[in-house]
Amino acid sequence: MTRLQHSQELLTLQSIFEGIDDAIFCHDLDMRITHWNPAAEQLFGYSHEEIIDESVYLLIPENRQQEKSDIMRDIIAGKRIGQFKTIRRTMAGVEIPVSITISPIRDPEGQVIGSSQIARSIIEENAAEEKQARLAAIVASSDDAIVGKSLQGIITSWNIGAENMFGYTEQEAIGQHISLLIPPDRLDEEDVIIENIRAGKKVDHFQTIRRTKGGQQLHISLTVSPILNKTGEIIGASKIARNITAQKEAERSIAKSMERMEILNSISKSINEDLDLQHILQKVTDATTRLIGADFGAFIYNQVDQAGESSWLYTISGAPKATFENFPIPRNTAVFQQTFSGEGVVRIDDITKDPRYGKNSPYFGMLEEYLQVVSYLAVPVFTHSGVVIGGLFFGHQEAGIFKKEHEDLVVTVASQAAVAIDNSRLFEEVKNLSDKKDEFIALASHELKTPLTSMSGFLQVLQRAVPDGTAKIFAEKALNQLAKLNELVNDLFDISKIQAGKLQLNFEPFDLSDLLDEVADTFEQAHTAYHLKMSADGELLVSGDKMRLEQVLTNLLGNAVKYAPEAKEITITAIRIGNEVHISVKDQGPGISIENQQQIFSQFYRVKEHERNTSGLGLGLYISKDIIDRHGGRIWVESTQGHGATFTFALPAFTN
Ligand code: ADP
Repeated sequence: MTRLQHSQELLTLQSIFEGIDDAIFCHDLDMRITHWNPAAEQLFGYSHEEIIDESVYLLIPENRQQEKSDIMRDIIAGKRIGQFKTIRRTMAGVEIPVSITISPIRDPEGQVIGSSQIARSIIEENAAEEKQARLAAIVASSDDAIVGKSLQGIITSWNIGAENMFGYTEQEAIGQHISLLIPPDRLDEEDVIIENIRAGKKVDHFQTIRRTKGGQQLHISLTVSPILNKTGEIIGASKIARNITAQKEAERSIAKSMERMEILNSISKSINEDLDLQHILQKVTDATTRLIGADFGAFIYNQVDQAGESSWLYTISGAPKATFENFPIPRNTAVFQQTFSGEGVVRIDDITKDPRYGKNSPYFGMLEEYLQVVSYLAVPVFTHSGVVIGGLFFGHQEAGIFKKEHEDLVVTVASQAAVAIDNSRLFEEVKNLSDKKDEFIALASHELKTPLTSMSGFLQVLQRAVPDGTAKIFAEKALNQLAKLNELVNDLFDISKIQAGKLQLNFEPFDLSDLLDEVADTFEQAHTAYHLKMSADGELLVSGDKMRLEQVLTNLLGNAVKYAPEAKEITITAIRIGNEVHISVKDQGPGISIENQQQIFSQFYRVKEHERNTSGLGLGLYISKDIIDRHGGRIWVESTQGHGATFTFALPAFTN
């Protein structure tokens, strides 16, 4: 090498030394720094002037000085140490991780005279490594399946979560196509996902179904994001799958329970509103058949009538009733027997394999022939006193359809049905008794009327015939009492006519003010101690039965006298309001409580306090209401206790 070449080489080395990004510095065997490039200044903070001739130990934290001495031993022995990771200290005293390559410097004779060091800060590298380690730990410990795949769909990474979820080990999965996990009918989903990924879009919480190694279908929620390389290019996708099968199942079972609750509610509501036995049985049969998904259902019910005669009623759902037209009542078959003897529920997965099956031909023969029953469920229906009154029977063409939950549902409905059946029975009984009572009232009032009329005739003759004196007074009193008796019998007679729908009304148009005058006259003659105030306003023409409306008014005035004996003022108001005529009778008596106001228009209702000291059957207002109703009108009472009562009836005004 010529001198020139040599000096050119030196210049080149010098410029590399100064231009390079790595810190380069040298020291002699006295550990004095001899060379220091600008990158070293950058990394450690010391300028060339500040550091040259200073000890290299300035750059070494105390606890690493031993390490440095060890290294020096190797260097002096002529060894090179590459990419040694350690800690160095800057001028500001900050310790930084560095990677250093240390080489011996030799003199022309080959003697080691010092060492050169190339140092690079590895702060960022360390941070990246740490981050990666952290991420890897998260991925490894996640219960979610985290899978990486290439844009071609080849699996590139597979965590423990994926292994647990899908059943494939890492070795089995990596390198396979992602379609390994996709059910055949969903394969095109992958195209859509990849299309999104290529476009740099994330697929978020996509709910779908994937397949495990064992072939089981899993409901999963999928999030797929693009994986970018350092230059921002999309090189694959990471997918996170969460198993939501349990959540889906919970949702499904909640929805199913809700639906069942609704059906149960509507069954109980609709059967409790019904008092007709056949209706109740049909509703229960239809609803339970639907509720448990049976092909067919039947309710067989043993009805015992008043005379103690028992007969069988049945309703069918899911099969035409004609199928059962000749169906013998299944009293003695082995299978039905268990239900009707109250032994409990019978649930059979496959009746054709049941030892009891076929023993009691033709019953099961019929079931099989017409309905092809295989799954069978029978639930007895008990009254509250524990007597079996019937059974609910269900069938399905397939085996093993009915489960414990279905049994429980039917048992619940059966107990509600029993209550409704009991109610309808009670209702029947009450209705029968009520019919008997009506018959009796009709007969009694009719039979009482004839002797009453003749008695009244004879008494009037007697009253006129006897001279003034005690006998005459008694005859008059007897006549008064007879009139009261007559009123009571008339009420009874009216009631029986109302009940039989035979209360005839003769409609004619007339002016109510005339009727009011007549009624007022009669009242004043009979009740001289009373002051009757009357006000009539406007056109009071109505179309109605004059006699019956008089009966209503007389009853209201009679009540005002009867129930407000201390208050001697009664007001009658008649007024035309729109298309109606309103007539009110107002007294100043004790009034009527709110509860009683709601009851007094019903049959035989009397306010308790009045029961003892006034006569009456609790029929007057009931009859009045019936008369007003049949005029197309309304009757009501307004009262504040202690401040009198106002009874008002409204009738449609007559217009021609
Ligand atoms: P009765 O008078 O035969 O008992 P009603 O049907 O005419 O039957 O009356 C029913 C009940 O209403 C009576 O028992 C009475 O307690 C109450 N009542 C009716 N009118 C009045 C009134 N003006 N003031 C207070 N209570 C009344």
